[in-house]
Amino acid sequence: MKGWRTSDDPYRAERERMVEQQIITRGITHPRVIEAMRKVPRHLFVPEPYRVQAYADMPLPIGYGQTISQPFMVAAMTANLDPQETDRVLEIGTGSGYQTAILAELVQEVWTIEVIPELQERAREVLEELGYTNIRYRVGDGSKGWPEGAPYDKILVAAASPSIPPPLVEQLKVGGIMVLPVGDRWGQDLVKVTKVSETEAEHQVLFPCAFVPLKGAYGFPEEPF
Ligand code: SAM
Repeated sequence: MKGWRTSDDPYRAERERMVEQQIITRGITHPRVIEAMRKVPRHLFVPEPYRVQAYADMPLPIGYGQTISQPFMVAAMTANLDPQETDRVLEIGTGSGYQTAILAELVQEVWTIEVIPELQERAREVLEELGYTNIRYRVGDGSKGWPEGAPYDKILVAAASPSIPPPLVEQLKVGGIMVLPVGDRWGQDLVKVTKVSETEAEHQVLFPCAFVPLKGAYGFPEEPF
């Protein structure tokens, strides 16, 4: 991350408190994930009216009916992917770009898809301003994946899905991991999918969660696309 000096950062102490009280105390132990959460300036991804709450223990509005995920959720999803420096990761739902930045700190390449063009444009501006060069951007329906980058080492879906989209499992490497919220519109379980062979995947339910709905071909059919 270039163009950003943590020494001049008025939010540095708040970010440190966030990491201690919301991330480490709740059992996230992955050292590289903790380091990335300490480093990335979350407040720059939060729209101005909510910026003073950027490090609070909650999701916040980012416009267009969408949210930036709660810090703990970002840390837990990332830690469950066990990010490696050589990984290529597909992210569905760029949103504010904050989760994208955390991933970009930890892996070789992030391929991120967002369905709302204005959100991706804003996220891209912040990410480019911060100097990230290992991110590819696409506007479209991420529920169908992004076949040109497949197979992915890891996939992160940041919107609630009614079931596990088959194209995403297909686009995961054997041995790869995907995390996604699966359930109905009002409540889901965060699920970790490990692809154990070309034809088999293991599923582990991690904990309950509540995300905005996934749109598109494998999302909720009643969601306007
Ligand atoms: N992790 C993001 C962050 O840190 O700001 C928050 C993502 S927000 C909870 C979910 C995002 O998924 C929204 O921006 C929404 O527009 C997007 N989304 C929903 N359905 C989608 C689809 N089919 N393809 C791509 N993005 C989608």
